[in-house]
Amino acid sequence: MKFVYSFNEGSKDMRSLLGGKGANLAEMTKIGLPVPFGFTVTTEACNKYYEENKTIADEIVDEIHEKMAELENVTGKKFGDTENPLLVSVRSGSVFSMPGMMDTILNLGLNDETVITLSNLTDNERFAYDSYRRFIQMFGDVVMEIPKSEFDAIFDGQKEKAGAEFDVDLTAEDLKAVIVEYKALVKKFMGREFPQEPGEQLMEAIQAVFRSWNNDRAILYRKLNNISDKLGTAVNVQAMVFGNMGDTSGTGVAFTRNPATGENALFGEFLVNAQGEDVVAGIRTPKPIKEMAVSFPDVYKDFERIADVLEKHYKDMQDMEFTVERNKLYMLQTRAAKRTAVSAVKIAVDMVGEDLISKETAVSRIDPNQIDQLLHPNFDEKAEAEAEVLAKGLPASPGAATGRIYFTASDAEAAVANGEKAILVRQETSPEDLAGMVAAEGILTARGGMTSHAAVVARGMGKCCVAGCSEIAVSESEKTLTIKDDVYKEGDYVSLNGSKGIVYKGEIKTVAPEFSGDFGTVMSWADEIRSLKVRANADNPRDAKQAVEFGAQGIGLCRTEHMFFEEERIPAIRQMIMAETEEERRAALAKLLPFQKSDFKAIYEVMEDKPVTIRLLDPPLHEFLPHTEEDTRELAEQTGISYAKLSQIAEELSEFNPMLGHRGCRLAVTYPEIAEMQTRAIIEAAVEVKQEKGFDIIPEIMIPLVGMESEIADVKATVEKTIGTCLGEYGVEMEYLIGTMIEVPRAALTAGSIAKEAEFFSFGTNDLTQMTFGFSRDDTGKMIKEYMDKGILADDPFQTIDQEGVGSLMEHAVKQGKQTRPNIKLGICGEHGGDPRSIEFCHKIGLHYVSCSPFRVPIARIAAAQAAI
Ligand code: PEP
Ligand code: MG
Repeated sequence: MKFVYSFNEGSKDMRSLLGGKGANLAEMTKIGLPVPFGFTVTTEACNKYYEENKTIADEIVDEIHEKMAELENVTGKKFGDTENPLLVSVRSGSVFSMPGMMDTILNLGLNDETVITLSNLTDNERFAYDSYRRFIQMFGDVVMEIPKSEFDAIFDGQKEKAGAEFDVDLTAEDLKAVIVEYKALVKKFMGREFPQEPGEQLMEAIQAVFRSWNNDRAILYRKLNNISDKLGTAVNVQAMVFGNMGDTSGTGVAFTRNPATGENALFGEFLVNAQGEDVVAGIRTPKPIKEMAVSFPDVYKDFERIADVLEKHYKDMQDMEFTVERNKLYMLQTRAAKRTAVSAVKIAVDMVGEDLISKETAVSRIDPNQIDQLLHPNFDEKAEAEAEVLAKGLPASPGAATGRIYFTASDAEAAVANGEKAILVRQETSPEDLAGMVAAEGILTARGGMTSHAAVVARGMGKCCVAGCSEIAVSESEKTLTIKDDVYKEGDYVSLNGSKGIVYKGEIKTVAPEFSGDFGTVMSWADEIRSLKVRANADNPRDAKQAVEFGAQGIGLCRTEHMFFEEERIPAIRQMIMAETEEERRAALAKLLPFQKSDFKAIYEVMEDKPVTIRLLDPPLHEFLPHTEEDTRELAEQTGISYAKLSQIAEELSEFNPMLGHRGCRLAVTYPEIAEMQTRAIIEAAVEVKQEKGFDIIPEIMIPLVGMESEIADVKATVEKTIGTCLGEYGVEMEYLIGTMIEVPRAALTAGSIAKEAEFFSFGTNDLTQMTFGFSRDDTGKMIKEYMDKGILADDPFQTIDQEGVGSLMEHAVKQGKQTRPNIKLGICGEHGGDPRSIEFCHKIGLHYVSCSPFRVPIARIAAAQAAI
């Protein structure tokens, strides 16, 4: 087995063996670009190092020596030589770039003797000693793990002694003094001298890179990003080139296109007479890359050519590092560049136009999670970076919002009516807050998870929301928001980043979304590629319209209880819930029927021929019971039932576990008249819109929270009987579907029998996750965050399907459902329907559609296409 590869032996396809950096250095060497020669110690050598109790096997040491000899040959220099010393850089390079790992050691090979040679050869004593002190500092920090602050203290002390304002003001003599103290520091910490022998320096540095693969930060990063611990890291050893050899040298970082806008022009920065870290460290202000044409006209031409070669070769925008040593250009790194959503979309479309990539590749290059940036307002990047972070919560609904805080829905509404921008701050939201939520720019809650009321409703509206922010204390009665020791009052400004879950102090400038032509083009390519259909969860004509504008192909979930969130309708549904006799209930239902029917008609009109799945009432009762004395008194007035009586009923109805209580189909089993009214509203609306507008409507009626075949059979009988009566009254025929949600683990397990009754399944993964984990959707936000911080959970299961648990229930249900009913329609309407990784899973297990909130429809279209590529 071979453990060390020279740069001329590898290629970009050997990423898993050579790491990203090593593979690209090899590729650049292979295509004839000027890369300082070197070699890569493989990821397998790293794994072997761990297998053998953190020692480097003799055969690997031998191979490294062989490659060092080759490097000496190629460069004509010698390691540790006092006439022409070879100096190298040592860099880590894992398959995926990983923050937290050892990064770089430069100038390795310097010692008390070679530093003198370097000084003579370059005729620059200051440069030589500065390189040496940088080397001791980096080596001491990353290999010997001596606190960086100790080195900084010595360096700053010397600056003070010499009266130097900047690092560059230190003379060679000053730097020599620094080196003496650095070496004393090493002796004190390590009990041994700083290693003078370059071979020893090299082996220690290589082992330090291997060790950094398993430091705490790197382990945690892998856990959180689902990267295997078994990959290991490679180590790149490369001949040094110097950008700090005077005014004919320099160093820089550049992109082949503009990573912010996508503009097709070189973009980047460079510094004359500097080493790589100076650009990143921000000590000196770099110049725009274009000015290199003035400082180094020939080199610049060469660089332009190489950038073009690299981009055409990799067929993607590159992010490159380079150094100029005495007017000669060297490439030190190239990789696919990170980019904003705007830039990603423009570059993808441009590159298809340039015949560089296919439409499939273009679509696969778009990060679906980034698409959000294009659909919502965002903060001005610079303003956000400068803003003060007050607290962090869950990124419940993306976008940016800035405004004055208000603590009740009506205060927020009133403020907005006065022309202000409001942020609604609540302990948690409830249906009564809807109007305030609609009016506010954004919503902040102290409690609740990713599928809490605030989060679900805010996402549905495309409104920015930070939920479950446990670092804040909200007093709704005092109208105060307390964060740490600071108290914010009504009218104070805060800003929310709902994509990151951050609360900022004060006002931050926002930028409106732009729907460019390129965005539409990429979306149309995604539609050509994908096989999964994308529907939306929408409960009213406004959301339905938004969904269609974003490309939804139907409605996968219309939550009928949400239609009653509006203020004037809440009393009617409360009356229905609190009715004590069937007669009272029927009277209340009669009031609800016209609301429902007109809403359904309006939705059908927006959706035209597209399918619409309407779910029967599923109100967790606690969301609808009167919460305050005022509510109860108002209801007493409206219904004529006494306040005392209503309070008593409310108490009787209140449940310990409302989410596991009298909700879903259980309501329709015990009160069939509710299902009858809703079925009537659905069918009458469908028949009338079909007659009036000629749309081909096939109503899909969905029964929620089913756990048993007998349960769905019971409700289905009520629904079918009502449909028969209704159609008879109109004297027409109409196709329809009756199906169920799979939200209870028992339903997933017995899906084969449930499919005898159900013509479609829609996975309600919010409840399915809640019941599979036994994690309350509304209470576990804070705990899940801690689980993730500790690495117990890699992802929030309410955000991304837990494939191992919830996912295997889904797979089982799909198989069983299809066995019973081969043409069964399969979809998902839990919040996961808008999550790219979950969408990929849904594609894999053979669902026909995903349904998500309107603002996630474009994300889902891209993710569905990527799943099919
Ligand atoms: C679900 O449980 O996944 C679902 C879509 O229903 P709801 O969120 O309304 O409970
Ligand atoms: Mg549910």
